[in-house]
Amino acid sequence: MKVLVINAGSSSLKYQLIDMDHESVIAKGLCERIGIDGSKHTYKTPGREDYVEEAPMPTHQQAIALVLKALVDPDHGVVSNINDIDAVGHRVLHGGSTYTQSIVVDEDVKKVIRECFDLGPLHNPANLMGIEACEANMPGTPNVAVFDTSFGMGMEPYAYRYAIPEEYYTKYQLRRYGFHGTSHNFVSHETISYGKLPEGHRRVIVCHLGNGSSISASVDGKCLETSMGLTPLEGLVMGTRSGSLDPAVVQFICDHENMSVDDCLTMLNKKSGVLALSGNKSSDFRDLRQGELDGDERCQLALESFRHHAIMTIGGYISAMGGVDAITFTAGIGENDGDMREKIMKHFAYMGIKIDEEKNQVRGEKMEISTPDSTVRVFVIPTNEELAIARDTVRLVTR
Ligand code: ADP
Repeated sequence: MKVLVINAGSSSLKYQLIDMDHESVIAKGLCERIGIDGSKHTYKTPGREDYVEEAPMPTHQQAIALVLKALVDPDHGVVSNINDIDAVGHRVLHGGSTYTQSIVVDEDVKKVIRECFDLGPLHNPANLMGIEACEANMPGTPNVAVFDTSFGMGMEPYAYRYAIPEEYYTKYQLRRYGFHGTSHNFVSHETISYGKLPEGHRRVIVCHLGNGSSISASVDGKCLETSMGLTPLEGLVMGTRSGSLDPAVVQFICDHENMSVDDCLTMLNKKSGVLALSGNKSSDFRDLRQGELDGDERCQLALESFRHHAIMTIGGYISAMGGVDAITFTAGIGENDGDMREKIMKHFAYMGIKIDEEKNQVRGEKMEISTPDSTVRVFVIPTNEELAIARDTVRLVTR
């Protein structure tokens, strides 16, 4: 069975064609500058040179048409016919309070995705365009929506409700949803299966540390807590996002800088986080690490602040679960930055967590990095959101 996985952004579209019999990627690519001059499509197949084409893509529909053309091309294609693609899985940011799981797309599903435009103004419109583009170019092929918010829907009201008047929740569904849900779901389940965690010992903390970062706590794969909120701005200090702060900061800045709330939120999303703390040196942790080694105090501050918030979140989640059986690191920093993992985990030495220094050198590979006598098992497990989306798609279209 072959599944096309689509991650549509407002001006870009990433895709992978996955052969689900072997769970292997047979082609992948990226369409950039959709709706803007200078559109470009990069198409990659294993073992062959990248194929790059510059062609107009006024809408997502033309972008999908180019992708399909490349996939069936006699020279560099990987399938002989579009009908060889059995289903399409779409990453959709927000499913609101309606969807707690992935679902086959029909008119009702599209209506809900549209109703959530307010909750995911940058992503949901683009995600819907991706779905409609596939419907137009591949009539009869089923589309599945996989929501980034599904995992967080496992939270109980005491965790997801904001302590503000109820009318805002009932009228507008203002609550904590959590994001990176596909990754947290995938990695928490991989932790249980890779670590062979026995029943009754499946309290897992997943640290998804990348440019956007979030941490989740789950029991038996069901989310108890996750650090992002109504939007991905809540929670940890991130690459360019501030993470949680006193909302009065927004009012203060808007008043004193004569700034609109929209502009202030853009600043908090794009110009804050470790980028801001490092004095605009970088949002990339490799640069910050080098700065730290060179004695740059702002880089030290940025990294210490990032770690501090991660440590406090992990500590809080351990208490909320009454203990923890496994802690797993994933995403760009979590998979590659052994120094970050070690410095975070060192704070939990008091409860008997021990990291094996040699194993912790691992980069981008599945590995248990704790010592045999560690009281809690610690893992690195690469996330694979595309595979998670494809697995859900297969499950839903073959029922
Ligand atoms: P996104 O949230 O954009 O999906 P990723 O999960 O791809 O982000 O993570 C990207 C980030 O991972 C980069 O900004 C970089 O800071 C960090 N990163 C990647 N490789 C390393 C490394 N070897 N050491 C430290 N940080 C790294």
